[in-house]
Amino acid sequence: MLRKKGTKLFLHLKKWLEKAVLDYNMIEEGDRVLVGVSGGADSLALLDLLNTPMVYVPPFSIIAVNIDPGFDPTYSDYNKLDKYLRKNNLNHYMEKTDIGPLSHSDYNKKNPCFLCSRLRRKRIFEIAAEKECNKIAFAHHKDDIIETLLINLFFGREISTMMPKQTIFQGRLHIVRPFAYIGEDLIKKYAKEQRLPSARNKCPTSNTSRRIYIKKLLKKMERDNKDVRNNIYKALRHIKSDYLPQDMRDMK
Ligand code: SF4
Repeated sequence: MLRKKGTKLFLHLKKWLEKAVLDYNMIEEGDRVLVGVSGGADSLALLDLLNTPMVYVPPFSIIAVNIDPGFDPTYSDYNKLDKYLRKNNLNHYMEKTDIGPLSHSDYNKKNPCFLCSRLRRKRIFEIAAEKECNKIAFAHHKDDIIETLLINLFFGREISTMMPKQTIFQGRLHIVRPFAYIGEDLIKKYAKEQRLPSARNKCPTSNTSRRIYIKKLLKKMERDNKDVRNNIYKALRHIKSDYLPQDMRDMK
């Protein structure tokens, strides 16, 4: 376990992280949790918080897993992350891949994110099996949930988003998102406060992705309605199925 960092922000994040974990029964005694670590502020903040003593969550073990997408031939962020994990004596596994360049190859120029996330996720599942983990924790937060809802609605023609807890492979594996109640701004603030290393995303699509489009759109909307993000988030708990078409077959 890392040293306890009793700042006000630390206590606030721990409270909401533990609440999400308990509300969704994300972690049970003896779980082996694979924590997906990209090297960015969000995932390192999650790893950091999961590695500090819990008040109500039962004991569990952790392995941090990094899949380097291969955008940087010098592997400077990979090496920095490796150094940080070693220095803090954190159980970890890292892998260099060519998933990034492959997803941007000529035959897949249209939507590199789809292939990139699919390949990375596939490899994460394989590593979870190799390391005998029954849970995979991702650092997706409240803002990711809001943005994904809009991405799926605007581009995927469906109403869906990331779930705080998702069961896959007939219950053999669970994906959990302990930051489901916490906004991105507080997580970034915490990473800065604790001086966690943060890798810059070197992907050529990172500034033009659908997520960035939605982020910019929400920012614009927030100028007129500062509650817009919270309202979308809360709407997920107020689904009025009676006011949704039950049978769309006749609709054009
Ligand atoms: S922005 Fe880049 S790294 Fe992120 S999912 Fe898309 S292709 Fe992959």
